[in-house]
Amino acid sequence: MYIIMLGAPGTGKGTIGAEICKHFNLNHVSTGDIFREEIRNKTELGQLAESYISKGQLVPDEVTIKMVENTLDRMEDVILDGFPRTIDQAKALKEILRGPNKKVTTITTVINLIVPDEDIIKRTSSRVVCSNKKCGASYNPVFLPPKVEGICDVCGSELIRRKDDEPETIKQRLDVYYQNTEPLVEYYESEGILEPIKVDIYSPTTKEDTTAEAIRRIEKHLNK
Ligand code: ADP
Ligand code: ZN
Repeated sequence: MYIIMLGAPGTGKGTIGAEICKHFNLNHVSTGDIFREEIRNKTELGQLAESYISKGQLVPDEVTIKMVENTLDRMEDVILDGFPRTIDQAKALKEILRGPNKKVTTITTVINLIVPDEDIIKRTSSRVVCSNKKCGASYNPVFLPPKVEGICDVCGSELIRRKDDEPETIKQRLDVYYQNTEPLVEYYESEGILEPIKVDIYSPTTKEDTTAEAIRRIEKHLNK
């Protein structure tokens, strides 16, 4: 099965995606994580990606599509987090799924997480992530605090703020989202696979509730 996580930056795509991934035993493919890994390893792709990401812009389609195509080769059960982000990427994904060696040829469900902009800005600008690249856990001092301030619960490493989580960059990323990514809502709606879910980030059980709802929505499509 193929699941797509859609939603503005900071809506919890990564967190909820990881839970769905565990539940259905999928491969978690996050383009943001892949770019950050390339940046840490100072590869050519990493340097190119960083010049866009640090400004809150999208990495060019050509580069992103090629990277995803290589990653998805021979992968059958996948949750995509952060891809597609443009109509052209969505069209490219369609082509990738039609490729040789592919057993799964269609997208099962697109989960669209909906959070008001002002909540996104509040939440994202206070988020911290684990500095250990093998861990990558994400925390929020208000909604999901670590047990010890500045230290990862999972692995004990230091917690840091992502450069692109600065308030000015977040506003830029939201603009980019509305311009480039939001058209995908209509695109997937017309294919009958879109499942919008309103997320209440102030609820203490938001992670569990949103995960359970997303799983229910996916199961609806599996039984079709
Ligand atoms: P968020 O969902 O919080 O915006 P991500 O980790 O998904 O964060 O992505 C971080 C950055 O990586 C994006 O702001 C963008 O610059 C780049 N990026 C990730 N996925 C894509 C993509 N599919 N196309 C272009 N750029 C991407
Ligand atoms: Zn950690």
